[in-house]
Amino acid sequence: MLYDAAVIGAGPAGVTAALYLVRSGLKVALVENSATGGQILSTAEIENYPGFPKSIKGWELADLFEEHLAGYSVDRVRGQVLSSSQKEDGSFLLNLSEGKTLEASAVVACTGARHRLLGAPGEDTFAGKGVSYCAVCDGNFYRGRDVAVVGGGNSALEEALYLSRIAGKVYLIHRRDAFRGAMVYQKKVREAANIELVTGSVVDEIRGGAAGVDGVAVRHLASGDTRVLPVDGVFIYVGMEPVSGYLPDNVNRDAAGFVLTDTEMCTSLPGVFAAGDIRAKRCRQVSSAVGDGATAATAAFSYLEQRNA
Ligand code: NAP
Repeated sequence: MLYDAAVIGAGPAGVTAALYLVRSGLKVALVENSATGGQILSTAEIENYPGFPKSIKGWELADLFEEHLAGYSVDRVRGQVLSSSQKEDGSFLLNLSEGKTLEASAVVACTGARHRLLGAPGEDTFAGKGVSYCAVCDGNFYRGRDVAVVGGGNSALEEALYLSRIAGKVYLIHRRDAFRGAMVYQKKVREAANIELVTGSVVDEIRGGAAGVDGVAVRHLASGDTRVLPVDGVFIYVGMEPVSGYLPDNVNRDAAGFVLTDTEMCTSLPGVFAAGDIRAKRCRQVSSAVGDGATAATAAFSYLEQRNA
């Protein structure tokens, strides 16, 4: 079957794009590799999405997305898009995991970004045995125990605060003295009694044994002083990298792989649109992803109207 539009990724951008496209009367496939919600599923509390003044838990918002989608005839396709190409007639062929294929006249890429690795010795060895990229998923294993968080952006600050309510002591390790995360989180982190800031410092090694992690060796960059922080868990939040490798080569990306779009979410390849964290842009929020999704759907609708005229 040829869909009018294939939306890839069911995070805030993809869910919005799918809703707008199906409400325009189009035949829409929404492809998702895991559960609806994307990154919000690994976010404890969302405090800055309008309409939820008391904040909302990530999984609760994901449930509401699911409930909203259920009211419409969007075809839900389970799988990972491995590659894609444009056919001679201008439509797109998506190759999915398990040998599935899908054809659509337009594609809206909303596959977001995934956590970047720190690259420190021990990170690989102890992945899943003390090294985590998701405090909401794994934080409970460290109830009353000491942990480290690495990074200085919003994710690191938010997750350090989340962990400070569960763990014993939280060391927040950041390579600079200034954080890039929002002031509201910086203030809370500085005020938290059980968060120790380890700034201007890098992780030299994540250490441990058969039972998992038992320490992090850190080095203060200015003085060269080293010390080992006695922790059972290390939560790494050093930024994101885009999930964009499956798009055709003629969809232009920046050096890091984030997709370049115009203000209407059109990519360099007519018929392919991108929305949310997969895009090269500064603001990465649930609200901006939702806005991108609506804009991309509107642009895709116009594209299809012109194509079918
Ligand atoms: P980010 O803002 O890119 O921050 C990454 C942090 O990791 C930076 O502090 C960076 O240090 C550090 N870092 C990068 N590479 C490193 C390395 N190799 N070794 C040590 N430290 C390293 O990433 P993020 O916090 O994951 O956030 C991603 C996006 O989502 C951002 O746009 C963020 O605003 C948004 N977000 C928003 C919220 C919210 O508003 N509530 C929550 C989460 C995420 P430097 O500062 O020195 O570069």
